[in-house]
Amino acid sequence: MKTAKKAPETVLGIDKDFMWAPGEGPQTQEEIDDFFNSAAIHELKQLICELGRRSYAKNYNDGNGGNFSVRVAKNVVLCTPTMVSKGFMKPSDMCFVNMNGEKIAGSRRRTSEVLAHLAIMKRQPLAKACCHAHPPHATAFALAGKKPPRNVNPETEIFIGDVGLAPYDTPGTQRLADKIGELGLKHDCIFMVNHGVITWASDIETAFWKMENVEAHCYTSIIAQAIGGFQQFSDEKAKELLPIRDSLGFVEQY
Ligand SMILES: [Zn+2]
Repeated sequence: MKTAKKAPETVLGIDKDFMWAPGEGPQTQEEIDDFFNSAAIHELKQLICELGRRSYAKNYNDGNGGNFSVRVAKNVVLCTPTMVSKGFMKPSDMCFVNMNGEKIAGSRRRTSEVLAHLAIMKRQPLAKACCHAHPPHATAFALAGKKPPRNVNPETEIFIGDVGLAPYDTPGTQRLADKIGELGLKHDCIFMVNHGVITWASDIETAFWKMENVEAHCYTSIIAQAIGGFQQFSDEKAKELLPIRDSLGFVEQY
């Protein structure tokens, strides 16, 4: 089958970000089903299950909270289902949606929050994968409607930079998705006020890695606050980190 042959042989190797050419991708339902059941997509489903286990083990997913998505063709996104614990997902739980959020393959209902992921992917061409979770310390900042402190940890400046803050709106609505999508143009990590965190990257492992990074930053910031506060470095010193951030391919924010 044409599309399946074009899919990378392994998502754990060089093609895990699923580069595709304009116009490429399965068109008919038969092609979509073949792609959904291909070896490459199966491997990506397994990777998402593994990341779900890691995320759950780190206490980032209460109940069935959180979700993952990966754009695998121009109009096809692999995403996690709703009403399933992210720590106990199976490859057969995953589904395909198109860029309008309509399910096109898979037996379970797609996550309602995929609209926010798609809103980022539609606007930001570098975004091929999104991760959403409720890690407790970063979510505490989101519940308070606050961004984490800047200029306290050089690694966070390099990997995360300025966090976007999406004002509260009803979860699962297009209104909220559009607010998040606009912020995704300038921020690779967005706090959804009164809700949780969403990160994006060129591949799903990196998106999850950003989730871990921002949660660690929020955790240590809260502890630092408890023992007397932060020692911040200057904006001038922070600017010296920008070439490192650029060399790693993160979004330009300045
Ligand atoms: Zn959520």
